[in-house]
Amino acid sequence: MTSDCAALFVGPHPDDVEIAASGTILRLTRSGHRVVILDLTAGEMGSRGTGEQRQREAAAAAAMLGVADRRSLALRDTAIADDDDSVQKLVALMREVRPRLLFAPHERDVHPDHTAAAQLAGKAWFYSGLVRFHPELGSPHRPRLLVRYPGNVPVEPTFAVDISDLVEQKAAVLGCYRSQLQGEGAKTHMVQGIDVRDRAQVRDRFFGVRIGCAAAEPFVIDGPLPLADLGALLG
Ligand SMILES: [Zn+2]
Repeated sequence: MTSDCAALFVGPHPDDVEIAASGTILRLTRSGHRVVILDLTAGEMGSRGTGEQRQREAAAAAAMLGVADRRSLALRDTAIADDDDSVQKLVALMREVRPRLLFAPHERDVHPDHTAAAQLAGKAWFYSGLVRFHPELGSPHRPRLLVRYPGNVPVEPTFAVDISDLVEQKAAVLGCYRSQLQGEGAKTHMVQGIDVRDRAQVRDRFFGVRIGCAAAEPFVIDGPLPLADLGALLG
């Protein structure tokens, strides 16, 4: 892996990154940027689908997104923690991939794995930049920004990416996760009667309305958004 990776997207389970950020990833990969997805677990404890099935679906989604690589940290589903071992695994991967931006879940979430993943990513993001933190894991690297993607608890975003022209493509990516769609075991899901594709579309339309377009993906950073110039704001 070279050091020209634009962004590493960390998800607790396969499909979390796609629900939150498929449009943003497509925007990056279609502009020629290298993007890597990291699944912390295989999602083997999910009520719908087996771990194996979800991995096949994840591979299909990754191909559609055009990401350079999709990795797994192989942590235990429902047991994600920000313990030393997990932090070191994530630091090793971050020092290898060396992304400029790190995307990770927001800590406000009803799923304990998502909250834990948010804390794990925060620790790894910081410690990865420390020269004396386990030098055997690779040379220090801290992504320029740690960007949070909101889960199922409303959070006011710092910025939102217009994905109006990518709505259909995002639906197609989420369609790869057949085990999570309406039909198979739908009644076992916490949110009755609305599947991952519906949830993403409702949310993206809401944030699109907030910024004056058809659909947008929201993100949160700590502190002010650093801008070198106003190009992005000029539209
Ligand atoms: Zn999840």
